[in-house]
Amino acid sequence: MSATLDELVATVAGQLMAVDSTTVAAEAGTVLRQLVGYFGMDLSFLRFHDQDRRATILVAEWPPRPDVPDPDPLGCIFFDSADPTFAASEHLADVMVVRPGADTAEYQERVLQGSGIAHTSTAIVPLRSGGLTTGVLGFVKFGDRGWEPAELRALRTIAALLAQLQARLTAEDQLRHLAHHDELTGLPNRRALLAHLENSLAPGWPGPRAVLFIDVDRLKAMNDFLGHQAGDQFIQAVAARLQANVRPQDFVARLGGDEFVVVIDGPSSPGHAESVALRIQAAVAEPIELGGQALSRTVSVGLALARPGRDFVSEWLHDADHAVLAAKARGGNAVVSFTEEMRTRTDAHNLVEMHLQAAIRDGSLTLDYQPVVELTSRRVVAVEALARWIHPVLGPLQPDVFVGVAEATNLAGELGRWVLDEACRQLAQWDATNPGLDVRVHVNVSPAQLIAIDFVDGVAATLAAHGVAARRLVLEMTEQAVVRDHDAALTTLRGLRKLGVGVAIDDFGTGYSSMEQLKGLPVSILKIDRAFVRDLGTNPQDLAIVQAVTALAAAFGLELIAEGVEDEAAAAILADLGCTQAQGFLFSPPVSAATMRGLLEAGDVQLRCLPARGK
Ligand code: C2E
Ligand code: CA
Ligand code: CA
Repeated sequence: MSATLDELVATVAGQLMAVDSTTVAAEAGTVLRQLVGYFGMDLSFLRFHDQDRRATILVAEWPPRPDVPDPDPLGCIFFDSADPTFAASEHLADVMVVRPGADTAEYQERVLQGSGIAHTSTAIVPLRSGGLTTGVLGFVKFGDRGWEPAELRALRTIAALLAQLQARLTAEDQLRHLAHHDELTGLPNRRALLAHLENSLAPGWPGPRAVLFIDVDRLKAMNDFLGHQAGDQFIQAVAARLQANVRPQDFVARLGGDEFVVVIDGPSSPGHAESVALRIQAAVAEPIELGGQALSRTVSVGLALARPGRDFVSEWLHDADHAVLAAKARGGNAVVSFTEEMRTRTDAHNLVEMHLQAAIRDGSLTLDYQPVVELTSRRVVAVEALARWIHPVLGPLQPDVFVGVAEATNLAGELGRWVLDEACRQLAQWDATNPGLDVRVHVNVSPAQLIAIDFVDGVAATLAAHGVAARRLVLEMTEQAVVRDHDAALTTLRGLRKLGVGVAIDDFGTGYSSMEQLKGLPVSILKIDRAFVRDLGTNPQDLAIVQAVTALAAAFGLELIAEGVEDEAAAAILADLGCTQAQGFLFSPPVSAATMRGLLEAGDVQLRCLPARGK
């Protein structure tokens, strides 16, 4: 008996693996059919609770009822008006068996109404996740039926699988929405903007088309002065102003921070686009009421035109960005149209390009290392290599700046090879002075590297050259990098897996494009982006996302690392949610190789950042 129960559970687990939100009803129906057959039941149902509305919603049932009344009395049941049995399912913590008797008359009556059947016995198994009851799995037998302990155990396991599925589906829904919308304003985000721009440059459309790049002047000063929340409200107000001052068919997107883009619908002319820009400039500058104060900020607007069928989106946006920088350079509060002279001006971009190749060779490029720690013990389990560059003219540069330039100028491969080689060399050196060291080294990989055909061979050769075991290396890449050229990336990822190298999806949650695509990929780690971690203690939306990502990681058996942990509150919440590894200023900022060596010898980061606790 128990072997077959195990087999039943295993079959169900297999069936639920591939389910997504479009197939959940049908697949759950199939699972219920099997369970009904196995346990000799007459009816079964799966319900998911909606915590916000305090209701329970029918997801699937077996067998299907022949005549479902409309509205279906079993479809959506609000707990407040539910019979005692359904009401009890709201917070049900363990299996509830209801057998015929006077005390369940009201429940029997509702089942009678919904299905036309009287005198039933019912087993209700809660779906539990994160300490909440998130749904129920129910079985009905006409007449009486008792349950064996082994059967109940199997039901609990199946309910746990369903709860995990439910959490994963919720996570996928949230990420899908995030993928195209800016969380703060609800406006389309960068991804949606790029798709829209691509569309509007399709050959055959009348042109030219105009795009306005809008940047609020000195918002940071206001943020510093009034705090994050006020800054966020201000951004929301600006978003509303922008939408109110363009036509409904014009496209308004938020790029992040205080940057917005308006794409004017239909053909435009420099004069027309400028008049729209001036109107927006005036409208946004009007004072905004915030916490009893009237605040105002000017904006800079950059304007660029492009011709459908001839120009490229990347250049178009770049031109508008260039124009807005020119507006800022004039002190802000200005509308500037892009001109060809701007293109030829020697700017930071050119300076970086000129020196990067030399820097790779002359040693002005270095790596810092930031520990990844186990949350509870604060033991260092890995170090992430982060590139640093002191530019001879521009001074210290942010890696995202020069890595971006390297990408744009075909230097990404060269930079990436250097970083990987240096990180492996360093790890081998730490190993030599610290035998028994078992930390991994994480190296960031840029999109261009990932699709180079000789990438895997290069990694293998580097590992061999330094005598580093493949399992000690993790390569970090963003979702966009993986999804952009999916087939080439997949080949690379398979090669890496074969080699035994770990793969982490970096900045997870910010660039989700297709969970379905991501699912099939040989990936071992998710790194939750620091944007969701920063305000974990105060922002319930972020909490929900992190919770969802935790569920997602669990569902796919992936390791999870939270990035950007800056305070103990966030660390405690993450630990509660079941996230075991983290990285962030709370534990240690990125440090030089020499400092990292000391940290590795200590083994953990407790003594550095916390009052000594004893180990
Ligand atoms: P990333 O891969 O997400 O790296 C983590 C970044 O978060 C680092 O910034 C790190 O200093 C910062 N950080 C760590 N803990 C905290 C925290 O608690 N709070 C805050 N606010 N930030 C924290 P960094 O070093 O400026 O690097 C920025 C990005 O540049 C990296 O983001 C990565 O995408 C890229 N990058 C850095 N080195 C390389 C490299 O060698 N190759 C490639 N392709 N990209 C690199
Ligand atoms: Ca990274
Ligand atoms: Ca990251």
